[in-house]
Amino acid sequence: MSYHIDTGLIKEKFVETSECPLCAIKKVAEEQFLHEFLNDAVMEDNTRIKVGKTGFCAQHFDMLFSRRNKLSVALQIGTRADKITHLFTPVSGVGAAKKRAAEIEKSLSGCAVCELVEESMVKYYKTVAQLFVREKNFIKTLLSCKGFCMHHYAELLKYSASAGFAAKQYLAALSSVQSKNFERIKTELKAFCDKHDYRRANEPLGTAETALPRTRIKFYGEKPE
Ligand SMILES: [Zn+2]
Ligand SMILES: [Zn+2]
Repeated sequence: MSYHIDTGLIKEKFVETSECPLCAIKKVAEEQFLHEFLNDAVMEDNTRIKVGKTGFCAQHFDMLFSRRNKLSVALQIGTRADKITHLFTPVSGVGAAKKRAAEIEKSLSGCAVCELVEESMVKYYKTVAQLFVREKNFIKTLLSCKGFCMHHYAELLKYSASAGFAAKQYLAALSSVQSKNFERIKTELKAFCDKHDYRRANEPLGTAETALPRTRIKFYGEKPE
C-alpha cells in the first residue's frame, strides 16, 4: 500500500479557511487508507501480515466499522485475533503475570492505519517546507492561511530542515502565521464572552458564534469522523 504525495492537495487545503490545513490533508490520506483496507488490500498478503502484526487502534477500528464493508473488517481483525491468542495461555506466577500484562498492553499500542497515515504525513510536512523553497507563490499562500492545530504546527517545526537554505525564512513565516492566527482565535473567544453580556443580547454573534469549535481545532486538531 503506497501513497502518492499530492502537492495540489496541499495548495487546495492551504487556501481553504479551516483552522488547520494539515488536519484537512490528514483526513484525505486517512480516508484513502481506510478505503484500501476495506477493498483491494483485504486480499493482499502484505497488508494481512501488517494487520496481523499491529492490528488497529480503537478509533480506526470504529472508522472501518462505520463504513460499508463489514466483511473486510471481520477478515482483517480476524487475522489480528489469530496472532494474539498466545496472550491468553495460562501464566505460572506473579512475575510471568506482570510480563504478560505488559505484552497485552503493548499489543494494543500499534495500528496499521495510524502507521500508514503517519508515514504519509511526514512526507507532507517535508513537502510543505520544500514548496516554500521551490514555489514563489506558496509563501503568500502559507502566510495567508489560518495557521495550524498545535500538533501539526509542532510537526512543521520538527521537519523544517526540509526547507534547506531557506529554513530560517520558513520558520519565521511559520511562527508569524501561527502567532497571528492564535491572536485571532483569542480575540474571537473574547468576542464570544463579551456577547454573552445581557446588554449585548440582541447583537449578532458574527464569527464569535463558531469560536469554540474552531478553538477546539486550534488546540487539538479536527475530530475524527
Ligand atoms: Zn492539524
Ligand atoms: Zn489508528
